[in-house]
Amino acid sequence: MKKHHNQSPGSKTNQAPANKAFADRRTDSRTPALFLKEGRERSVLRRHPWIFSGAVERTAGAVETGGTVAVRAADGRFLAWAALSPHSNIRARAWSFSEAEAPGEALFRSRIRRALALRATHLPGSEALRLIHAEADGVPGLVADQYGKLLVVQITTQGAEFWREALINILREESGCDAVYERSDADVRELEGLEPRTGWIGNRPDNADTREVQGDSGGILVEEHGLRYRVDVAKGQKTGFFLDQRDNRAAIAEAVATTVRSGHPPDVLNCFCYTGGFSLSALVAGAKSVTSVDSSHAALQLARANLDLNALDAQKAEWVEADVFRYLRTLRDQARTFDLIVLDPPKFAPTSKDSERASRGYKDINLNALKLLRPGGLLATFSCSGGISAELFQKIVAGAAADAGVSLQVERRFTASADHPVLLEFPEGEYLKGLLLRRN
Ligand code: SAH
Repeated sequence: MKKHHNQSPGSKTNQAPANKAFADRRTDSRTPALFLKEGRERSVLRRHPWIFSGAVERTAGAVETGGTVAVRAADGRFLAWAALSPHSNIRARAWSFSEAEAPGEALFRSRIRRALALRATHLPGSEALRLIHAEADGVPGLVADQYGKLLVVQITTQGAEFWREALINILREESGCDAVYERSDADVRELEGLEPRTGWIGNRPDNADTREVQGDSGGILVEEHGLRYRVDVAKGQKTGFFLDQRDNRAAIAEAVATTVRSGHPPDVLNCFCYTGGFSLSALVAGAKSVTSVDSSHAALQLARANLDLNALDAQKAEWVEADVFRYLRTLRDQARTFDLIVLDPPKFAPTSKDSERASRGYKDINLNALKLLRPGGLLATFSCSGGISAELFQKIVAGAAADAGVSLQVERRFTASADHPVLLEFPEGEYLKGLLLRRN
């Protein structure tokens, strides 16, 4: 793997003024540029932020990895400011589509302020939320999640890496969170030619500042819908918690509560339970029993701890460390059945290239779950694969229902919560989709 840079981290800030100068003098013949092939400007004109290598004719001028280039049509017309990723198939990512809005502190600050304002409107007082959702907030390559007073950042592109210091400083100032933990260990960094990097940025904070940041695990307590969760920001998946499922955990609690009110507390199966989000939501709403399955020992340990933290009845909770694909078959052999089944698997198809294999995976778990679903029961089924559209996902589940010989009514469609916005011009960003289905 290529080393991503050979400067000291501090030298990044020294590059900022040179880039800032773009804004003052617009572009001239010395401005690093990326020329597109003839006729390949359409998607940039539609404000799609990704420029694929196949559309690139050449670069010109003193281009640097992660640095800013003016994207130009074959005839030289300005199209966008973008960050160059020489090793990636996504060769450049647009920062802005206006020549007057060159990337730099001012632009990043305005994007970050706008993102925070959106969260303040939709999620006032939330303790655990995504502050910056990359492309959808106008900052490709940057994810920032807030857990109490702790900020967890993830940088996934050369462009965001180039501006790392500036971005983190602005985030600190604007969010009021001093403590920052970096989780730049997503696989996608490899495609960019970036090494993984994790750890505290700046000084490790006092416990007093961050509410129970513990040991190296960075475990922090947060509350969501009245339930408390311990989040392992250092070793947990993503940045420690699946914030995108916030509304859907509430929806599952609501579905359970409705069933309880009708006089029938449900038996629930939660597949891919991670640290117990849907399990706890079902228990607190009055489920009769919740069986939770995950292949990760560490996730299950935390799930059990979360159950205790909320003083929920451990007798009603069964935790199973197993592979869901196999365990669904075991449950079938045991003739177990459930009133509500949640399927929230990991990403089977990061891109559309993997969609065929992923489709088989989704079909398998949905089919085998449906075989365990009692008549009148509910299936809450999700896909967080960017490479599987909502339409395709629905077709796959319909195929599973046909094979299982059951009729399913759509009670609700799930998406990610409001802190994971979607841009119409960037449909790839709409990765999480789900269906709440009732078996007739
Ligand atoms: N629903 C959870 C998030 C699920 S993330 C929440 O709301 O927090 C996906 C989970 O699937 C991870 O915990 C991962 O450990 C688990 N996993 C991945 N592959 C698996 C498999 N084949 N069998 C069981 N669990 C698996």
